[in-house]
Amino acid sequence: MSISGKPPYDPENIFARILRGEIPCKRVHEDGHALAFHDIAPQAPVHVLVIPKGEWCSAADFHAGAEAEEVAGFWRAVALVARQLGLEETGYRVLSNMGPDAGQEVGHFHVHIFGGRRLGRMVP
Ligand code: IMP
Repeated sequence: MSISGKPPYDPENIFARILRGEIPCKRVHEDGHALAFHDIAPQAPVHVLVIPKGEWCSAADFHAGAEAEEVAGFWRAVALVARQLGLEETGYRVLSNMGPDAGQEVGHFHVHIFGGRRLGRMVP
């Protein structure tokens, strides 16, 4: 769902299709709230995407509109995946692009987990 304006949620976006099993993914974790899989074009030794199961376009939509249980379940899954990937000790970065200026390509809310090397400072 998009509550922040246009465009509305597109059920044919690639992550919706992955959730429906129409497109394969390299799955890392799945539970009732979230699916995590390796990014197809990794930008770090570990680059995993975590997506909620609900139809939310962006971080803003998700946090404003989802039930508290869904939000908590999603972030628990993010932490669990990072632990499962062995990143807890070394550290990692969680990032979400929102909207055109941030370069969001896929209109289903997702966070990137980056790790596996010393990550550079973030610059705009
Ligand atoms: P965004 O720019 O934050 O929207 O990130 C979208 C991410 O999805 C990019 O890092 C892409 O490499 C990744 N991606 C696109 N299609 C697929 C796919 O089919 N499987 C896994 N990752 C994908």
